[in-house]
Amino acid sequence: MSKIMAVNAGSSSLKFQLLEMPEEKLICSGLVERIQPNCMSHYFFKMDGKVVLDREVPVPNHAVAVQLVLDGIKELNIVASLDEISGVGHRIVQGGPYFSDSVIINEDVKNKIKELIPLAPLHNPAHITGIEAFEEVLPNVVNVAVFDTAFHQTMPIENFLYGTPYEWYTENKVRKYGAHGTSHAYVANVYGETVNKSLEGTKVITCHIGNGASITAVKDGKCLDTTMGLTPLDGFPMGTRSGHMDPTVISYIAGERNMELKDIINALNKESGYKGMSGLSHDSRDLEKAIEVGSKPDATDAEKELARRCRLAFDVQFKRICDYIGSYYVLMGGCDAIIFTAGIGENSAYLREKVCDRLAALGVKINKELNNDNSIRGKITNISADDAKVQTWIIPTNEELAIVRETVALVK
Ligand code: AMP
Repeated sequence: MSKIMAVNAGSSSLKFQLLEMPEEKLICSGLVERIQPNCMSHYFFKMDGKVVLDREVPVPNHAVAVQLVLDGIKELNIVASLDEISGVGHRIVQGGPYFSDSVIINEDVKNKIKELIPLAPLHNPAHITGIEAFEEVLPNVVNVAVFDTAFHQTMPIENFLYGTPYEWYTENKVRKYGAHGTSHAYVANVYGETVNKSLEGTKVITCHIGNGASITAVKDGKCLDTTMGLTPLDGFPMGTRSGHMDPTVISYIAGERNMELKDIINALNKESGYKGMSGLSHDSRDLEKAIEVGSKPDATDAEKELARRCRLAFDVQFKRICDYIGSYYVLMGGCDAIIFTAGIGENSAYLREKVCDRLAALGVKINKELNNDNSIRGKITNISADDAKVQTWIIPTNEELAIVRETVALVK
């Protein structure tokens, strides 16, 4: 028996889960947020779904955050000694061309993560800070890096190379790397286990649709293609990201709106997608609610207009999701199952129905009653209609569990 921690260090936050292994039992989870000097930060611990510790204190840096997390674990009597923690798995957003698997962290690994900072300027520095904080506070514990990009390293070059000058690839590492790899791999594996089929010879399309969203073609258990690119901005519109577009939009809008490059990239990452198109919110639930309100017979003109914009935001996204699914169907020469996961994929019956209806030409057909049944929430569910040629599944993702499993494998 051992306790393993999964850590997701962001630029000003640190999310964690502690699991008992090999039972895969969640012991506690929590978040430290607003990690920065000269301000009040906040952290909480949850056990059995309930908040058991909730405090506001100054947390000037990640080392202090890690110390608070470990102090909280002792205070809540989760461990008698921190020696019970035998490994820490760190989620790393960008592993570039260097990592096709998880690795034990050493100086070389840290140097490569640092070298890749230009490709992930917000995430990789935060990951390094998180890793170094754990190294300082728990010097005898093995730290493991689990890369969002690793699963996508099996893409053949014709699927990851952009049509740009070749030197941009060889000299500047410009290519598609993908993201959410841990989640895509996890749900594809759960599908195989659930239908009791080897992934060898199996073709699935995994749709991780949350605030960030990507789709992956998984053939024989390996990534063949994915929608995110050099960075997570690529693909289809998401909560606040635009997804792909003609790159000339950038220079054109710089002139038209007198904007700086960094502000345009910021708008494409943070002010676009659902938020930008609807003008309402990045959260799909707000858009669904506005559509419901604006569809009522007594809706005001303003409510009707808002509903139109929200419907439009969804329609643009759904169209593009279907473009990718259709192209991956062709790329793999068919598809056994489409898998929906993450916040929206798992919870929004609306998105699943609208997307699957548009995929009728592929033989996708869902059981609409089951799709709308609230009791399937959080459960692995086959929502296909009996006569569907391509199955449709909901498989809840669990990236933290996947990180912990990878960590256990390497700690051993
Ligand atoms: P994630 O990034 O995976 O945490 O997903 C966040 C997204 O999931 C947000 O847009 C939420 O609105 C959406 N979401 C979470 N729960 C629900 C729900 N019950 N119904 C519809 N969308 C949901």
